Amino acid sequence: MSNALGAEPHKKNRKPQIHTGIFVWFISFSLFIIGLLWILQIFFLDDIYLYTTRNGMQSTASSIAMMQEKGILNKENLVELVENHRFSVAVHKIEAASPNVVTKEMLSVNFTGALAENITAADYRKLLASLYERTAASPSGTISFDVRPTQNVPTEDLASRLVYAFLHPVNGVEYLTVIDTELVPIAPTVALLRFMLSVFTGLFILLALVLAYIASRSISSPLVRISRAAKALPSGSFTPPDKALYREIDELSDTLGEVAEELKRSERFQNELIANVSHDLRTPLTTVIGYSEVMRDFENERTPENCQLVIDEARRLTDFVQDLLTLSRIQAGAAVHQTEVFDLDGLLSETVDRYRRLKGVAGFTFTYQSDGAAPINADKTELSQVICNLLNNAVNYSGDSRRIEVYAELSDTHVTVKIRDFGIGIPKSELPRIFDRYYKVDKTHERARVGSGIGLAIVKRILESYGADYGAESELHVGSLFRFSMPLHKEVALLPPAKEDKM
Ligand code: ADP
Repeated sequence: MSNALGAEPHKKNRKPQIHTGIFVWFISFSLFIIGLLWILQIFFLDDIYLYTTRNGMQSTASSIAMMQEKGILNKENLVELVENHRFSVAVHKIEAASPNVVTKEMLSVNFTGALAENITAADYRKLLASLYERTAASPSGTISFDVRPTQNVPTEDLASRLVYAFLHPVNGVEYLTVIDTELVPIAPTVALLRFMLSVFTGLFILLALVLAYIASRSISSPLVRISRAAKALPSGSFTPPDKALYREIDELSDTLGEVAEELKRSERFQNELIANVSHDLRTPLTTVIGYSEVMRDFENERTPENCQLVIDEARRLTDFVQDLLTLSRIQAGAAVHQTEVFDLDGLLSETVDRYRRLKGVAGFTFTYQSDGAAPINADKTELSQVICNLLNNAVNYSGDSRRIEVYAELSDTHVTVKIRDFGIGIPKSELPRIFDRYYKVDKTHERARVGSGIGLAIVKRILESYGADYGAESELHVGSLFRFSMPLHKEVALLPPAKEDKM
């Protein structure tokens, strides 16, 4: 494991701290909002006022036209329509267009400052005639204009106002509707707004500063605490800080806690591995040396049995070293699959036969049931190793029952191999870890066992290199079932027909 002491010191990071970042973003956003308010309220107030009033007039005009078409335009409806806006409205019927424009007022609603009441009747008639000509000339039949005190029109002496006129034919008769309203002088409003905005800006900036500070602290400080706590990770310790306000930060803390656990576990495994490997190497070596010395010194000890014992121990040693090498080769990714299409059913049946011959004398019974030929494309040696490792375990841990059952079940796409024993079983709590390298359930008696503790790790690596599904089920003192599935190779026809073998 890498050591914290050996780690390079962190390079000086010139990036801003997270709370500075959050603070700056928050303040920038607040300033942007305030700026926008100033621009809209002070600089464009005039335009916005004119724009919304003109829009209001347009929609009032279309409502009047609609009511006229439906024949429901009367004083009451009209008052209801315009009183909110305080628009003055006059609907005129065009009785003659030439040589002079003759109009007749049909309906009107006037508010204080109405155009009709602020100019003479003669001027108003003149204005109506000009409005008629202008609306008739306009392609949309509508005109709108604002009248300023500076403009040299008949309403020169009036306050600024907005006038909207539209020409609308109903049943062949033309109606000219004039909507007008006095425009409230903007300057005093702007002055009032400016004062209010200044107060608001001051308060808003103050509030934004406080909020930005709180927000940046509440997000950044848990992160800073986690970052500090995480510095102890390389040594495998991590004390999670108190729960934070936000879920992601808690999740980060939990994840780091799991990483620390994993690091500790991996360090423990590594230590265990070294201890176990050295022990497992030393035990047979001691036997070999001991027996060899006895045989050297005492002639009557040079029996075939003692020689066999030495050979057996040496073989066990070779097997163990071979297992270690295989595992490290697979782990390093150095193993290259020598794939070929072969019948897994055939391989299983041969292997089970061999075990029957080898272990039958010791009272083991093996049954094999298969659904038939199972062509797969894989490395036969590797698959053979998987099967042997699982069968060895079934033999080693089958207790007194000594019964082992092997199945090969076919589905449309896969063959599933199951190896069942009725032996000592595995406690539920240990099941998830038995495929770990050098993991042994029965640690107290591990020396008495024949296994190297890496058989299942090899099985796992090989099966995972094929992306195969695998697993184990077990019940203590009842037995275990190990299974794996491999995808079937398509060309089934090339292989021998199905066969069944039972014992
Ligand atoms: P070993 O060489 O010790 O058998 P493995 O990696 O093959 O190592 O297995 C790991 C551990 O899983 C074993 O030590 C044993 O405790 C447990 N185990 C494996 N197979 C079985 C089984 N069929 N029944 C009970 N326990 C088993």
